[in-house]
Amino acid sequence: MVKNVTVIGAGTMGNGIAHVFAQNEFKVILVDVSRSQLEKAIITISKNIDRQVAKGTITEEQKAAVLQNISINTSLAEGVKNADLVVEAATENVEIKLNILKEIDSTAPAECILATNTSSISITKIAAVTKRPDKVIGMHFMNPVPVMKLVEIINGYSTSKEVTQIVIDLSKKLGKIPCEVNDYPGFIANRILMPMINEAAYSLYEGVAGVEEIDIVMKLGMAHPMGPLQLADFIGLDVCHSILKVLQDGFGNPKYAPCPLLTNMVAAGKLGAKSGEGFYKYTPGNKDLVVSERFSKNNFIQ
Ligand code: NAD
Repeated sequence: MVKNVTVIGAGTMGNGIAHVFAQNEFKVILVDVSRSQLEKAIITISKNIDRQVAKGTITEEQKAAVLQNISINTSLAEGVKNADLVVEAATENVEIKLNILKEIDSTAPAECILATNTSSISITKIAAVTKRPDKVIGMHFMNPVPVMKLVEIINGYSTSKEVTQIVIDLSKKLGKIPCEVNDYPGFIANRILMPMINEAAYSLYEGVAGVEEIDIVMKLGMAHPMGPLQLADFIGLDVCHSILKVLQDGFGNPKYAPCPLLTNMVAAGKLGAKSGEGFYKYTPGNKDLVVSERFSKNNFIQ
């Protein structure tokens, strides 16, 4: 039975994953190479729970209990030594993930399940560096984790049916809706989402319409809560670019090649909300959507 959960990586996703497990009475160890990231993650979790308290969905006493369920550690070996489940949510980089998985495999208990939150890297490839490929699985939470219901459960080539069932049951226990898919590039979420974002970038690049028009058509016409260009800014244009490359390489199909405009924006460091500018401009304290100067009607030359 899963009681002790270790989350590797205390960034955007890791803090949310730790939050939902701790809120559902699991003992969580959050591990990161950076102590300041760990400290920042605890502050973020605490602020996010404050919002739940303000809404009346949990009490102050429950908040204290959730925070008590989380401890932090900068040592991977220490962090996983008593884990029943590890959820790896470190930086989306193949080398980093393979090294982490190798190290966890050599230090975590033999029965421990190794889940990864990767957005696009092959689960089968990650599993292949361990001696327990039957216990390696994709557990792809959506951002922001405490809010989004979906967990994409990705079966690697060798994932056992028992492990899949345990992870499905666990996801339900977290109040999530698990959806089982097989391990092919982009799984389902990003295989469908990223070509849409890429096509939106192409529509802008080819001058079919401006940033606002593209997003309004998809919001009002397709009932999407956010337009594809705004969503790309939220995810990070570097992340979108690297997932498109995974799709292009994985399927060997040029139709997934990132739009040259997206490639240029990433090279220029315009990564979306996290860098302050992407298709839109982000200023602290201003919640209005402001189109980046680069794409204003007068400045965008095709
Ligand atoms: P992030 O950059 O916010 O955080 C990554 C964290 O990993 C950082 O705190 C970094 O210090 C830490 N890290 C790096 N190397 C490490 C190591 N060797 N050991 C321990 N910690 C290490 O990234 P993120 O957006 O939280 O993404 C994490 C994972 O979740 C990625 O695989 C990403 O593809 C996936 N994901 C992201 C989103 C999203 O919207 N951001 C959505 C779904 C899935």
